[in-house]
Amino acid sequence: MYEDASTTPTPCPTCGALPVSSKETTPVPIRDVTFGERLLTLIWLKRRMVCPSPGCERQSFVEASAEVGVRRRTTDRFRRLLGRVVADQGRNVAGVAESHHVAWHTVHHAQQPTVKHGR
Ligand SMILES: [Zn+2]
Repeated sequence: MYEDASTTPTPCPTCGALPVSSKETTPVPIRDVTFGERLLTLIWLKRRMVCPSPGCERQSFVEASAEVGVRRRTTDRFRRLLGRVVADQGRNVAGVAESHHVAWHTVHHAQQPTVKHGR
């Protein structure tokens, strides 16, 4: 499954100009919600963009994705799902992590906001 993030261009972090071209594309696997036993992994085509401003020192930068976030390898909705499983089904973090094939700390962090809001 491929998801092209080209619909939301990331402006240059240095000068704010919108890129007009990209140099290269790096496929990044992102864990998403699990449907039954099937693991759903999105392939995010992360692109290295070229800054169009002639005087800009940055020249190129990697585009960002609002849904995935910086340095994360799971989507927001997947983390929300993990938090809900722990809260609604009363399951322990280690068990949820194992059944969803993710690290313990991923589930642990996912459940924090859910617990805080008393759900
Ligand atoms: Zn720039």
